[in-house]
Amino acid sequence: MHQLCVDLFPITRSITGAGARETLARVSADLPLAIHEVPSGTPAFDWTVPAEWNVRDAFVADDHGHRIVDFNRSNLHLVSYSIPVHERLTLDELRPHLFSLPDRPDLIPYRTSYYEKSWGFCLTHDDLVGLPDGTYEVCIDSTLEPGSLTYGEVVIPGSSDDEVLLSTHICHPSLANDNLSGIALLTFLGRLLGARPHHFSYRLLFIPGTIGSIVWLSRNEEILGRIRHGLVVTGIGDAAPFTYKKSRRGDADIDRAVQHVLRTTHDDARVVDFSPYGYDERQFCSPGFNLPVGRLGRSVHGEYPEYHTSGDNLDFLVPEQLAGALETMVDIVNVIEGNGTFVNQNPKCEPQLGRRGLYRALGGAFDSKSTEMAMLWVLNYSDGTHDLLDIASRAELPFDAVKRAADLLGDHGLLAPARVPRLEVAP
Ligand SMILES: [Zn+2]
Repeated sequence: MHQLCVDLFPITRSITGAGARETLARVSADLPLAIHEVPSGTPAFDWTVPAEWNVRDAFVADDHGHRIVDFNRSNLHLVSYSIPVHERLTLDELRPHLFSLPDRPDLIPYRTSYYEKSWGFCLTHDDLVGLPDGTYEVCIDSTLEPGSLTYGEVVIPGSSDDEVLLSTHICHPSLANDNLSGIALLTFLGRLLGARPHHFSYRLLFIPGTIGSIVWLSRNEEILGRIRHGLVVTGIGDAAPFTYKKSRRGDADIDRAVQHVLRTTHDDARVVDFSPYGYDERQFCSPGFNLPVGRLGRSVHGEYPEYHTSGDNLDFLVPEQLAGALETMVDIVNVIEGNGTFVNQNPKCEPQLGRRGLYRALGGAFDSKSTEMAMLWVLNYSDGTHDLLDIASRAELPFDAVKRAADLLGDHGLLAPARVPRLEVAP
């Protein structure tokens, strides 16, 4: 996962353009993505696909022709979506186009101007205050022309058409945690899902932030009814503990599943309520859709000093944290795959487990005590209204212990799947 981030880091990405295509081409080496191109000018609800932006070169040079700000040294130096410019300016004329962080004078900020035609350069505050008076040559060799917006999508089919939507953004240039960590996580999770059988079909989206999810939603309204669970994943590779942001519904199965996994495996994890600010959960959870989509990350955007600066680089990523994020995603998948609602077939007093050999069945690799407890919890609460996830949470047991107990009880005829309510409705 870290190597994929290393490979992708130098690419100049934005919400459109060659960098997005190059990024998706690299991901496609690991995951069979369909690449979609949506032409500039295409309407998407209240939005329109913007012109495509590409950049060949950009710099600010002093009187001697020395590049004092050079896009080739860091693509963060150029404000994303800067229009083409080539002129000579005094320092006073140039200053309104220069952006720095006085509070973090050693870092280059990341700025964009997608929807307002302008141009600018970002540099460290130390460099900005050191600029001598004089005239400067400003060159931005960019194009902002009709083209397309590019996104990647793959559906990893399961035995059901019901879907799990997993989404990450691909629109930031050389930023590691806020961008590449999510791409690496979904790429490797997609590989794992492709190698094992599963119930749900998993739809993975690699899309530019905001406009990408709006465009995707506008083109896929007819399939949204199949989405049972969803997660936006991003900012998942830094040293901080997990943060889970609940879906707008707040009590969707995905909210319960993620909270259960985090509670049983990461007691330092933070859970926050939905708010209409953040990443693409804003669009998936807009009131017209209100999809069961939460967001999993670590440090929260805007709350760490490296956020949207040159400090969010490859050194800010912790390979073990990337691996831990993948493990946690697999745990979450195991919960949503394994969850179900059952009915105790021997509900009048406890069944005799020993007579059925169920105590002996507990021997072996796993903790027999917790499985015995799990069987008692499953038997008691399986009345057709509590699913296994609810039982695991009440029992404060790991989901896999509860699931294993349910499987054992089912094998011995003590548990049967609850009839799905919609089947009971007369035609
Ligand atoms: Zn960002």
